[in-house]
Amino acid sequence: MRSPAGSKRLGWIFGLVVLVPGVLLAVIAVRSIDREEAYIEKQLEGTLLAEVVYLVSVVETELGRIETEAADSAPLDPLSDPETSLSQWRVASALVGSTFVLSPEFEILWPRASDHLDEGELSFLSLNSDFLSNRLEVPVFEDIAMAFKDEIVVAEQEKRIAGVERQLAKSQFQMDEELQERIYDQASEEGLQAQSRVLLPSAPGADQTEQPPPSIFISRDLRLEEITKDRDKGLISRINENGLELLFWKRLSDGHLVGCVISDTELRERLIALVPEAYTDVRILTLVDEQGQPLVAPQEAETRDYRRPLVARELSAVLPLWEAAAYLTDPGAVSARAGRAARILWALISILFVSILVGGILVLRAVRAEVVLARQKTSFVANVSHELKTPLTSIRMFAEMLKTGRQPSESKRGEYLSLMVSESERLTRLINNVLDFSRMEQGRKRYTMERVDLTALCRELVENQRPRYEQNGFDLELRIDTSADGAVLVEGDPESLKQSLLNLLSNAEKYSGQNKSIEVRLRREEPWVCIDVMDRGRGVPAAQARQIFQEFYRGDDSLTAKVRGSGLGLSITRRILRDHGGDVLYLPREGGGSIFRIQLPVAGQR
Ligand code: ADP
Repeated sequence: MRSPAGSKRLGWIFGLVVLVPGVLLAVIAVRSIDREEAYIEKQLEGTLLAEVVYLVSVVETELGRIETEAADSAPLDPLSDPETSLSQWRVASALVGSTFVLSPEFEILWPRASDHLDEGELSFLSLNSDFLSNRLEVPVFEDIAMAFKDEIVVAEQEKRIAGVERQLAKSQFQMDEELQERIYDQASEEGLQAQSRVLLPSAPGADQTEQPPPSIFISRDLRLEEITKDRDKGLISRINENGLELLFWKRLSDGHLVGCVISDTELRERLIALVPEAYTDVRILTLVDEQGQPLVAPQEAETRDYRRPLVARELSAVLPLWEAAAYLTDPGAVSARAGRAARILWALISILFVSILVGGILVLRAVRAEVVLARQKTSFVANVSHELKTPLTSIRMFAEMLKTGRQPSESKRGEYLSLMVSESERLTRLINNVLDFSRMEQGRKRYTMERVDLTALCRELVENQRPRYEQNGFDLELRIDTSADGAVLVEGDPESLKQSLLNLLSNAEKYSGQNKSIEVRLRREEPWVCIDVMDRGRGVPAAQARQIFQEFYRGDDSLTAKVRGSGLGLSITRRILRDHGGDVLYLPREGGGSIFRIQLPVAGQR
């Protein structure tokens, strides 16, 4: 009954509308799960980078402030009473360490070697006297992007706006790896040194053997005279055996230079004060010195590798090799979080997929059922019209024969009349079935219940039908296996019960094929009374045994195709009997054929 082409098309539609988008969705989701960890890391990196860049900018401002503070507190005329004025300077600013005064010709006027010097002054002189007296070249650092800004910023218009040019050079250099390579090559050709950075920013789990990248600060070797030329104050970083040391210098109006070492302790304290919230649950934000040591670090004795931050930026040409860096507080947290997110996503995808599939299958089944029903209804109309036509034709034929008065004998006449009666009964039964069906559909079917003797009902019905069956070559037998008095009482509507039995009898006739023997058997089987209608036909295939009771359902074998029917008989019979508290069942018959069993509760037992 179900057309394979229609089912195939439905399958295609289901695939296209539900399955393909579902699978696509799942693929996209699974891919995004794979990227979840990288995505969370990137997000975190972005946030941390913003914090680090901000820290770099406040450190730069602070270094400017330190320079101004040292300059503003410096003595104006240190030579008249160097001892007092220089110690006053140290009192005025905690930044000021060992002090010095140089003549315009770079002669060290203070500290005087002839005086009694303390340990600090002695070590200061031993580390710096060659440099201060302009005999030693020291590396002076500069941002490579600034040194080569003309090469980096090519557009003439942008070069004319000084502020824009600097920013542009910096950001273009940051973003373009090819450009970086070219500029570093050019710098080294010009003899400018780029040291390796101390830190190697990388994602957790990245290749541990990688080399740190070159610093963005390149150095050229200069003497003090070249450094101080054309300027009146400044900070010079010196890397010596004590580590990184900052020297401040200022040119006085008479050409002398006064200067000091910037106290390392004070410098670090002031910089630490710039990192307001160094550790949170998520990250550690700190400054790292040229030794790779954090200026601030969590209390707990951690064996963290501070050389591998997640993100880091170099601070300033004044503090070469110092960096602002951010670390994950718990490097495993990202993958744990990603794992959690992935699990939730997986669960959601699975739920989604299962619901799409289940929903799709349900819709498909519903649609298929609708299609089948629609098709059955169409063939129902054709079948019913045909079934109405057949008895009508015979009734008309016999009536016309009687009318012409050419009938040979009285007995033939009787036979025609009884055939006309049974044909019109068939017609009535068919119309009753259709009417009943529509009444049942609308819930309007009413029964007139009374006590019915099934033995009498069966006898009467079989005797009435016998002539027609025998005329068609059938052997119709009625067997009543009940107690002596014979009456079997049930509570029911006699017309409906008759209709049920007629439906089964008519089916036995229609589906018997060549073996034309029908038996009706009435017996008690507590708590039921059963009427078996048995034929020797082809039986019902096991696969269809349930479906035959569905409305409009017709078997799909060649015999059924030849026999006209509405597909309503069994479904109406079942409804009637169930309304009576009983049922109709199909049982395969031993030796071939079908048994359709009516079960009804014996009166008084319902
Ligand atoms: P119809 O007979 O009009 O097709 P029914 O509801 O009475 O509708 O029967 C449904 C189907 O059950 C039939 O099409 C036929 O395939 C099958 N069937 C009914 N009775 C018999 C029977 N006695 N033997 C074999 N098949 C039967």
